[in-house]
Amino acid sequence: MNAVPHEEVSGGSDDSAASAAQVYLWDRREIEFLLWELFHVDRQFLGTAPYQHTTRAAVDELFARAQEHAKHLAQAFYQGDRDPARLQEDGEVHIPAAFLPLWEEHKRDWFWLRQQGDPIEVHGEAGIRFPQLVIQLATELFAGANAAFMCYAGFTPSAATVIRSRGTELQKKVFLPALDMVRWDACFCATEPEAGSDLMAISTTARPLSGEVYAVTGEKCYITAGVHPLTENTVYLVLGRLVGGSTSPLAMSCFIVPRFWPDDSGRLVDNAVECTQVEDKMGLNGCANTRLVFGRAGVTRGYLLGNKPNAALLQLAMLMKKARIGTGAIGVAVSSSAYLHALTYARKRVQGAAFDRASDLRAPRVPIVEHCDVQRMLLEMKAKVEGSRMLLCRISFHASMIQQLVYRKQKLGEDIDRDLIEKHGRLALLYAPMAKAYISDECWNVVTQAIQVHGAVGYFRDRPLEQYARDLKILTIWEGTNYIQSQDLVRDKLGFGRQPLAMKDFEGEVRACLDRRDEHPELAPEFAAVESALAELGSALEAIQRHASAGRQLLVSQFCTRFLGMFGDVVTAWNLLEAAAVAAHALRSPQLKETEAAFYRGKLASARFFCHNLLPAVAARAQIIRTAEQSFVHIDPADFGYEA
Ligand SMILES: Cc1cc2nc3c(=O)[nH]c(=O)nc-3n(C[C@H](O)[C@H](O)[C@H](O)COP(=O)(O)OP(=O)(O)OC[C@H]3O[C@@H](n4cnc5c(N)ncnc54)[C@H](O)[C@@H]3O)c2cc1C
Repeated sequence: MNAVPHEEVSGGSDDSAASAAQVYLWDRREIEFLLWELFHVDRQFLGTAPYQHTTRAAVDELFARAQEHAKHLAQAFYQGDRDPARLQEDGEVHIPAAFLPLWEEHKRDWFWLRQQGDPIEVHGEAGIRFPQLVIQLATELFAGANAAFMCYAGFTPSAATVIRSRGTELQKKVFLPALDMVRWDACFCATEPEAGSDLMAISTTARPLSGEVYAVTGEKCYITAGVHPLTENTVYLVLGRLVGGSTSPLAMSCFIVPRFWPDDSGRLVDNAVECTQVEDKMGLNGCANTRLVFGRAGVTRGYLLGNKPNAALLQLAMLMKKARIGTGAIGVAVSSSAYLHALTYARKRVQGAAFDRASDLRAPRVPIVEHCDVQRMLLEMKAKVEGSRMLLCRISFHASMIQQLVYRKQKLGEDIDRDLIEKHGRLALLYAPMAKAYISDECWNVVTQAIQVHGAVGYFRDRPLEQYARDLKILTIWEGTNYIQSQDLVRDKLGFGRQPLAMKDFEGEVRACLDRRDEHPELAPEFAAVESALAELGSALEAIQRHASAGRQLLVSQFCTRFLGMFGDVVTAWNLLEAAAVAAHALRSPQLKETEAAFYRGKLASARFFCHNLLPAVAARAQIIRTAEQSFVHIDPADFGYEA
């Protein structure tokens, strides 16, 4: 097995049962591999505009400091769960006590990093320091150390970007200074009791008061970090409908509703926003998920975003895309730590003899990491975590490229091909539903396997694993359930196979990798496996297109989830193969230290395992989609039998 060196950036908690356990594990070598050997961040981005002031040493220092902050966050990991957010009798919302000082530290030292994805105008020329790829990998430390804490103010940078790009001058003046300084934070309020996946069912309404200001009435539920004591005000981006407006179900508007209304003198006054409930939930317990009522206790005032009615879906597209990618980022961060815990435990836990000497009582008992079935689980976890992280890196890479190319075009007047910028944008968009759905499904699998590797110990609360599982499950549900993501991929991104551009871009990326197969003869079977899976994916999409053209929409709807899973598997295999190719090259060096050689051999093992043990399922799923008639599942709901 690969002897991956990893670091504990952990803390226990005040809770005596939990204090012995180390919490968050992070693999620095893996991050260095991605930054410098695979994505060549130094060659590609650092030292050139707009990152001209950033050196590799600055990136290293950023990670060293981020590791320190993650240690502090990890110290509140258990407390966030054991002292959950709740609604007090006095109507105030309690959050874990440790979150208050942590917030001060996070806001002071780190919030700027989360705002770096904003356009250049926001930061000025010297303001953009790190490419998105670096930001993604650095902030992974924070989400992994304390995902519940990181939910607070999670929407703030995106909300500020939305107001900056879509708001009126007045709205920018009222909200941006406080949001940029994080004196105020922001939430996204879409869900209502009767409108979850089906946002068309939204019934929150708004009637004009004066100018851009409307009176908003309605109820929103589950709102993440909706009410808390960390900031002086919270800004809600509320989806609603104009009273007497268009009757089209898509005619939704976005209202900027502050919890406290800033009056003309800047004083914050009551805005009739009630918090009627803080949810008692399975995980992320340190985060307050709130039920909010607008316009019942008085008039709740809100600005119509951009003073443009019925434009919410377009205005908020960027915010929703970022939230989906952010969901994948939490999944990778937490499941990566779960995998490293499983690996560490498997190296220490001695149990049983080797399978081929099981009946020999004198055979030595071995650490479970030596058992093939435990290796199967560890390799599956390793491959999925590495592949998922690389999927996020791809998106961040394209985002960084766009930021760089737009800067060179707009600020330096260089002749940059628009098509190139658009291609990076298309690929990032194509990957977004997979970043949300594929990763959240796989990270759940990783965490449950990590518990399995621990045996009974994994089930106990003095290890972080059971909390990881509870914290992670929501990732398959929020920001549009994973089915909704698969619909987005198949219908909106790929047009049921009729919009070939993004798919062609993707195939081009994979083919560029396959074209290098002669350089890596030791990986020939894996190159062949990826090529064949890519063909299966294409043929499944063609079958979906045939079904859609023939009007068999119900058939298509039942294949969306499976198609997204297949696509995610192909992306993962391709990513692992790219990593293995770099590793194979490095392994040719005669002076490699043994720990380094082990790391690179582990990369080959990830790719080989995934290509030959998991990727073959792509062909089976493609076959199901092609031979649709036999696999069609649609029964009369009554035929399920049982009635409560
Ligand atoms: C911890 C937490 C935090 C949240 N934070 C926020 C927040 O900050 N802001 C916010 O607005 N919302 C938030 N939500 C709400 C979340 O986005 C919704 O729960 C989610 O969109 C799903 O809606 P639902 O729960 O009503 O499920 P439903 O829509 O009832 O779905 C139930 C099941 O049916 C499936 N389904 C539904 N419709 C279809 C269909 N047409 N075809 C096929 N299958 C379908 C779904 O995929 C799912 O499996 C949060 C929820 C939780 C639990």
